[in-house]
Amino acid sequence: MSQEPIKLGKRESKLRVDPKWADVCLTCGTCAGGCPVTGVDGMDPRKAVRMAALGLDDELINSRFPWICTLCGRCERACPMGVEILAMMRKARGLRDRDKVPGPIHKGAMMSMQRGNNLGIPKDDFVQLLAEVGHEEMDECCPGFYVPVDKVGARVITTINSKEPFGEPEDMRFWWKIYYAAHESWTVSSTEWEGVTWGLFSGDDETMKEQARRVLDNARRLKAEVLLLPE
Ligand code: SF4
Ligand code: SF4
Repeated sequence: MSQEPIKLGKRESKLRVDPKWADVCLTCGTCAGGCPVTGVDGMDPRKAVRMAALGLDDELINSRFPWICTLCGRCERACPMGVEILAMMRKARGLRDRDKVPGPIHKGAMMSMQRGNNLGIPKDDFVQLLAEVGHEEMDECCPGFYVPVDKVGARVITTINSKEPFGEPEDMRFWWKIYYAAHESWTVSSTEWEGVTWGLFSGDDETMKEQARRVLDNARRLKAEVLLLPE
């Protein structure tokens, strides 16, 4: 069976890509040259742009390109023609059926929405862990140190990556040492304390907004002046 010829501009683009990209893109390869994942499983941002410009939306959405892409944006900044490659890649992620989104990313986004952090760590375990690791910090280097959880009026509120409390506590302790040395007034929220917006990675705008809103709500609730996301 012969394939229908592709007519530029005749299809409604799910990716909302301007068909003029087919003319605008010089195929110069500057994007591919600066992309850190060019060549991984055939990845090439120039090819992705061409697919979108030709109306091959479904093919791009269901390809691995948008997921191999790290969303770093180097291609878009380097493109001499202003082609919005980063926006296209993220849009393509968002258009993938949710049950076909790569497992760890989808699971992270859903767990974060349901339980407040990507690993689903319960509040009591988290607070207890902070107290224990804070106690170690006090014993090892910092007399009088403790982790001020839910301290209203602290100047700085800090988010924590969910891999840190149980897996990589040293990453938290770097910051704690700085706070201690600087006599900083700081705090950590006992709930929804993770700053990673997993919806950014899964391409899900509503999830991304909700996760960002929670972090901001914590800062407002505790009346912090500065929000630090050291993740
Ligand atoms: S850098 Fe821009 S113009 Fe050059 S190939 Fe990539 S998308 Fe096309
Ligand atoms: S945003 Fe994606 S395609 Fe562009 S340079 Fe980064 S990894 Fe490559």
